[in-house]
Amino acid sequence: MSETFFVTTALPYANGPFHIGHIMEYIQADIWVRFQRLQGKRVHFVGADDAHGAPIMLKAQAEHITPEALVARIAADRPRYLQGFHIGFDHWHSTHSSENTQLSQDIYRQLRAAGLIDSRSVEQFYDPLQGMFLADRYIKGECPKCHAKDQYGDACEVCGGVYAPTELIEPYSALSGAKPVLRSSDHFFFRLSDPRCVAFLRQWLDQPGHVQPQVANKAREWLDGQGERTLSDWDISRDAPYFGIPIPDAPGKFFYVWLDAPIGYLAALKSYIDSGKARANGESRTFAQLLAAADTRQVHFIGKDIIYFHTLFWPAVLRFAGAPYRVPDNVHVHGFITVSGAKMSKSRGTGISPLRYLEIGMNPEWLRYYLAAKLNANVEDLDFNPEDFVARVNSDLIGKYVNIASRATPFVTRHFAGSIDYPTGTDELVESARAALELVGASYMAREFARAMRQIMTFADRLNQDFDARQPWLLAKDPAQRTALQDSCARALYGFKVLTCLLAPVLPALAERVGRELFGLQRPLNWRDALEPPRHIHPYRHLMTRIDPKQLDALFESAADISLDTKPEPQTQSAAAATTPGAPAPATLSIEEFKRIDLRVARIAAAEHIAGADKLLKLTLELGGETRTVFAGIKSAYEPAALVGRLTVLVANLAPRKMKFGLSEGMVLAASDETGGPYLLAPDSGATPGMRIS
Ligand SMILES: [Zn+2]
Repeated sequence: MSETFFVTTALPYANGPFHIGHIMEYIQADIWVRFQRLQGKRVHFVGADDAHGAPIMLKAQAEHITPEALVARIAADRPRYLQGFHIGFDHWHSTHSSENTQLSQDIYRQLRAAGLIDSRSVEQFYDPLQGMFLADRYIKGECPKCHAKDQYGDACEVCGGVYAPTELIEPYSALSGAKPVLRSSDHFFFRLSDPRCVAFLRQWLDQPGHVQPQVANKAREWLDGQGERTLSDWDISRDAPYFGIPIPDAPGKFFYVWLDAPIGYLAALKSYIDSGKARANGESRTFAQLLAAADTRQVHFIGKDIIYFHTLFWPAVLRFAGAPYRVPDNVHVHGFITVSGAKMSKSRGTGISPLRYLEIGMNPEWLRYYLAAKLNANVEDLDFNPEDFVARVNSDLIGKYVNIASRATPFVTRHFAGSIDYPTGTDELVESARAALELVGASYMAREFARAMRQIMTFADRLNQDFDARQPWLLAKDPAQRTALQDSCARALYGFKVLTCLLAPVLPALAERVGRELFGLQRPLNWRDALEPPRHIHPYRHLMTRIDPKQLDALFESAADISLDTKPEPQTQSAAAATTPGAPAPATLSIEEFKRIDLRVARIAAAEHIAGADKLLKLTLELGGETRTVFAGIKSAYEPAALVGRLTVLVANLAPRKMKFGLSEGMVLAASDETGGPYLLAPDSGATPGMRIS
């Protein structure tokens, strides 16, 4: 096997839900990762919550919960976004973890041994009421330049002036209102200005491919000390109280969150490997072996706001921490997302809520395609324009791509029983497919997704034009033109298969459906499937709906209008959303509403067929002292005898329902979708009948 890619996205701060900027970055990385996998490359794609620091500690304090509880609540919310947008991380971890503690402390010790850690006394504002040192953001006062009131400790929002917090007039703590006092404390610094670091970073930035040229230029400005930018040593410690990782041999000192956050990439990889999950991905090496291997590629996707951390601190920290750590092979930087040309702002209501997007039943692959059609390898902002979104998705995905299958398939199923034959052979067609794979593959590889989408749509245009020129609807009326009809449809449907392979990194759920439902594949499509002309096609089934502009209105309703009473739009319209395992969850409900549902562990004491029932089995359930009869629609999947003695989950307070065969006193839970099921739920071993599930 050739290269193994270790791919990460920037770690989101665990004090709030994902916003559209996170989702854009994850989709960008996910498309690139899927492209590598379709080519047979091994990729380990991991993410984690960035859990430490003062903002999380203070937010938890304000909610009267522990920081751990806050972080756990945020983490529990992540999967529905990630699954909802088909973002296929192999593993999601947290910087508040044993792996991260171990790695951060190890890296710190190595840097200290290399002579790159200094200790210096720092004078800083201290809040005597709160009992903590104050970061610049937590100090307010009068601007020393324009005398505006209530400005932050680092910059004035009125005149744009930049200053030190000690220059503020009448400073006060934004946390307690107390007048802060100056206090000194010993801090640890990573000596980024050390000549060894500077020499290494120059060389790393000069090697092409590590970062985009414009990013290298920006980073060099700091190395060269241009303007206000200079490379200074980095304060990596904070005093207690702090939610973070303790610094070894320094009681009361913690790592600044920005030291341990990128190490969280490695912690996520380590947890993924140590947990055994990576074995399913063909990885049998240890964490250290994988990192040390010459053919491993460490690839980070980040936004332009964190260039400084990822192109200066992070490579230098890794370089001088030594083995097994490796310096990043690529740091890919993207711009911000704007909406109709405006920067996102919750108060102005121009932001897009990713959760609302899913809840109102919009197809996640529309967004994936739209972002792909606008993303390139440069550090440029990307604008989400609602009209453009509707026009592009409807004209490209429906009008050009899906259209080919929906028009050509019925001729083949009607006139040739689904059999695809190539009267003029397949050589020319395979050659054209090969050329398309090379062209589009090079664009994906270079993260030039917009170019890839243009190339794909050019291919689709040619197919549609060719199909129209051959006029199969006329050929179908003339028995003498049977061969010509066959030829026109075969060309179109092979082309459709090629298009599906080319779009698979962007539209994974749709590509999977096309492979399975139309081409009868028992496994996901891969890149080289485009070189296999299909020989059979199943009857066409609706693949994707057009965007209704009304959905955009619903998407942009301000957050204040969203209440639990807002009914989600019917989801039947969205074929992909309704049939894929990652289908978005319905609207949220409160914990109180959820608690009204009495879920219990139940033992199936008896299960029997019912005379005259096609779908139902009669179950007798034990609840720990109580017995219930439930009619369950699981006959298609289970033999009654196989169920007896099993534990499952019962909705115990569902109103009893009078059925044709008797009274059903509850409901058992099972999973299913179009591909299979029902699969009865079961608790882990140790649970006993009657236990409450919450
Ligand atoms: Zn000012």
